[in-house]
Parts: sequence; C-alpha cells; structure tokens
Amino acid sequence: MKITGFRLGLLSAPLRVPFRTALREVSHVHDIVVELHTADGAVGRGEAPPTAAVTGETLGSIEAALRGHICPALVGKEVASLEELCSAISQSIVGNTSAKAAAEMAVWDLYAQQCNLPLYKLLGGGRTTLTTDITISVNDPETMERDTVDALSKDYDTLKIKVGENPALDLARLRAVRAAAPEAIIRIDANQAWTPRQAVRLLDNMQSEGLNIELVEQPVKARDLEGLQFVTDHSPVPVMADESMFSPLDAMTILQRHAADYVNIKLMKCGGLSNALKILSAAEVYGVECMIGCMLEAKVSVTAAVHLACAKGAITRVDLDGPALCSADPVDGGAIFCGKHIQLTDAPGLGIHGISGLRYLDGTPIAI
Ligand code: MG
Repeated sequence: MKITGFRLGLLSAPLRVPFRTALREVSHVHDIVVELHTADGAVGRGEAPPTAAVTGETLGSIEAALRGHICPALVGKEVASLEELCSAISQSIVGNTSAKAAAEMAVWDLYAQQCNLPLYKLLGGGRTTLTTDITISVNDPETMERDTVDALSKDYDTLKIKVGENPALDLARLRAVRAAAPEAIIRIDANQAWTPRQAVRLLDNMQSEGLNIELVEQPVKARDLEGLQFVTDHSPVPVMADESMFSPLDAMTILQRHAADYVNIKLMKCGGLSNALKILSAAEVYGVECMIGCMLEAKVSVTAAVHLACAKGAITRVDLDGPALCSADPVDGGAIFCGKHIQLTDAPGLGIHGISGLRYLDGTPIAI
C-alpha cells in the first residue's frame, strides 16, 4: 500500500481559560493537522502545535515544512517500509521537530492500521489507561488558589504548578496552592525562569516550609546544562529536564552527566515517536524515569503520546492535559479523556476517524 498524497488542515479549539507560563500566554489551540492518504482509502493523521517559544515553530513554518519538504518525501513510498518513511522524514529538512512529529505519527498511524493493531500494542504495550496531572497557569497567588480548588473539585490529585513569572511571587504562589490542596501531589515548572542559585534558594525555602514539592521542571535556561546540573546537585527537590532535552543526543548528554533526575519527553521536541523511543531506551539503560508531556495540543497528537505512554514502563508520570484544557473536542475517536482518566480503545492505529470543522489549507499563507 503506497502513500498517494497528503492534505494539511487547521484545527482550532478554544481553551477553557487562557494558558499562562513564564514564556507565553495563549487563548486558543490552533494546530496544523497532516493527513497522509493511501491508494485504498486509508488515512493516517498527525498534528503539530506552533510552540515558537520552545521549538521555534509557527503555524506558517509547520505548514511550509510539511508542504514543501516532509510530505513530498513520503508520497509514492510503501507504508510497510516504516523505517524508510521515518528516515525520509528525518532527512527531509533539519530542525522543524513538531512538523516532523506530526508526519511521523501519521506514518505510524497508517502502519499500525495496516497491521490491524492499535499503536500501543504495536509498540509492545499492555496497559490501556493512564492518569494525568493538570496544569495550573502562573498567576497571582489568589487566582492560582482558586484554580487549584477548581482542579480538586474535578477530582485531579496531581497538580503541575507553573511558576517563574516574577519569581518574587513564587513562594507565595506555592503556599496558596498547598494550603488549598494539602493532600495533592504538587510538581512545579519554572520554564527556565530562574538562575541556578535562585532556584536552589527558592526550592530550599519551599521544602523547609513543608510545601512538599515532588519535582521541579526546567528551573534554568534550556542551554545551561551546568546550571541544571548545579540545581540537581544542590536542590532538595528532584529536577526534571524539559526544554533542555530535545533530541536523543541531548538525552544522552543529560543522562551521562546526571544533569537531571528525570526527563520530560514530548513528541514535539524530539521530532516524533522514533526519537522518543530512542530517548526511552537510553533512559531505561540509565534507570531514569520519564514523564510524557505535551504542548497545548488537541487530541490527535496527544493520542499518539498516550499510545506511547501505554507501551512504555519507563514513562512513570503523565502530563497530557492538553485536551482537558480545551472547551471543545473536534476529534472523533482517539483516546478518551475524562478528567484525570485517559483510556485507549483497541481501534487500529491511533483510532481516529475524523476531525470536525477541520479547515483544509489550500497553500495560501495562514492568517490568524
Ligand atoms: Mg515543562
């Protein structure tokens, strides 16, 4: 079965409330969807969000990379040659990790459909359920306390608290969240906002006040591996690398230096499932647990991440709340998101049947 063509579309979904981190503020999910078509009518789907602050990619750059470089490298190739397809994606253009991740999930979707297996089974997995945390955006302490109460009322028991925007407020933020959620698991994400010494000081203060922080994600600048290692060596809170780790090579460097205690794998950073599997293998060798994370994504790409997480035991923490943050779900099929519970079905591939309201792109530049 050959890939005969592709279509690109724009998927839009409003967020329940604006999403704020130390890096950005967003009110809608607007993602590029890629469809790969075969001669016998099968469709493989993938999705990529524009996360310019992290991967450098915009809607326009994702569309251009897929239309001009990545998808043309796939047309005419056999779906059965999975490795050849993945390497064609990898070699079609440098960088552009989210665009590549979208194309790769479409390829894996088709391949698993052809095998008549759900993707998680193709990857060797046995579990079909996950429990995700929920993200609390960075705001003033009162707003974050209110958002915490709201999350607990929806039965979430693990909270990922964004901090780092005006770090002087971070202790007060965590005090407010902990007071509202005495039993919850609280992990925090500074999104590169702190200096290494500031991070250690803040984390020392949090733990000595009994705020009981499970881990801190990306306390320092992405490229400051020395700083990341300094925090890992001196902080009472375990450290997770996020923006510091894109590629399998980044992962190897961090693992070999023990620059972090955990790593956060996101398909959009590493360029797709193939590289995520390489990172997972390296982490297993080093005995390092992984989190599976997502950007602000709708359900196509998060479903691919769910399949991966259900297949790999090294993924011990799940931060796949993208679909839960949207107030509408245009995707028919895929993983089922119900509060903190995520469930897979045994439909072949990603299990996605269609996307309502998908605006197909005809090649003219996107205007949003
Ligand atoms: Mg993060």
